[in-house]
Amino acid sequence: MKRFFAPGRVNLIGEHLDYNGGLVLPVCIDLGITLTLLERTDGIVTLQSKSHPLTKEISAEDTLEYNSANDWTNYPLGVIQHLREEGYRINGCDLFFESTLPESSGLSSSAALEIVTTFALLQIHRVKLDSVWLANFCKLVENNFIGVQCGIMDQYAIALGRQDQSLLIDCANLSHTYIPFELGDYRLLIMNSKKPRALIHSKYNERKSECEEALKIIHNANHDIHHLCEADPVWLDLITDEVIRKRARHVISENIRVKEAAKFLQMNDLSTFGRLMNASHYSLQVDYEVSGIELDTLVSYAQQIKNCLGARMTGAGFGGCAIAVVHQTAVSEFKEKVADNYFRVTGLTCEIYETKTGDGVHAID
Ligand code: ADP
Ligand code: MG
Repeated sequence: MKRFFAPGRVNLIGEHLDYNGGLVLPVCIDLGITLTLLERTDGIVTLQSKSHPLTKEISAEDTLEYNSANDWTNYPLGVIQHLREEGYRINGCDLFFESTLPESSGLSSSAALEIVTTFALLQIHRVKLDSVWLANFCKLVENNFIGVQCGIMDQYAIALGRQDQSLLIDCANLSHTYIPFELGDYRLLIMNSKKPRALIHSKYNERKSECEEALKIIHNANHDIHHLCEADPVWLDLITDEVIRKRARHVISENIRVKEAAKFLQMNDLSTFGRLMNASHYSLQVDYEVSGIELDTLVSYAQQIKNCLGARMTGAGFGGCAIAVVHQTAVSEFKEKVADNYFRVTGLTCEIYETKTGDGVHAID
């Protein structure tokens, strides 16, 4: 019997930049998915999750295709199918998943599931795994098998993350560096709005095409850049449509904020980092318009707590989670006040998790 763990992730700053060739700064958290693997000699693979009733049994001859009736098992099935296409033989085994990571909340449980499955299946093959290959492979599973056009950030963070470090990823060329993220007496709190992310797919695609439109206008003015994040802020004046200009202003200013955030985290200046978080949320709220009443309520009450250095929505928006950096002495006051006010304004009950940063995918002894 072998056990493996893949964490969830939060993006500290740099939102909606992955598809604009910009910088993102995720960390792995200590919530995640544990996979227990038992080898079998009959070539059969079984899939079971503690949090889902559906189980599945597949043999080496079965062709695997996405099917909504297969529910959660589509993720491991996608991994197995893609590994077969890469030429790997999948040995028989029982796979059992258990999780502390909330699902469908923007903490990337889907990527954690793909990564932990791939990691485990290849470990028993004693294949030496390249983390960047692992991230790209799982992104392709999500894009091609599941049919979700996500960027590379989630899989990259979960494959390469390290405790007490954030991962600065340049999405234009997929290079990365580690930036210290040491909280000392502060805590990273995750506020789960528990708002179903209904609009997310249509709005995500709408923002993508608005950014393409902005880039086209900049190209037409003879500025030869590949990605919107490379644009000079003064070029915003070229964009006459107010909505497109606001979208571009978020992208360009957010990329500058990520560079600043990395610089100040290097100096362990959490206060300035917190102010950049606040500015990031404002930009996502007002210019990019992807937050909504629930995330805005959580963030504004969070920001009002003394000893909260900063707060912002994280992930694609329209529900999901927000994060805050809070002094340990203020954590219980924070939880109580934010949750009470959130319920009063929205009628929803949020969940607040006090998390630590953690390592990316790994085997557990
Ligand atoms: P997110 O990645 O933000 O959590 P997604 O909608 O992309 O949200 O992925 C959530 C899906 O991943 C769930 O609906 C479920 O199918 C699958 N999933 C996540 N965690 C588990 C788990 N512990 N067991 C089985 N399936 C899981
Ligand atoms: Mg996901």
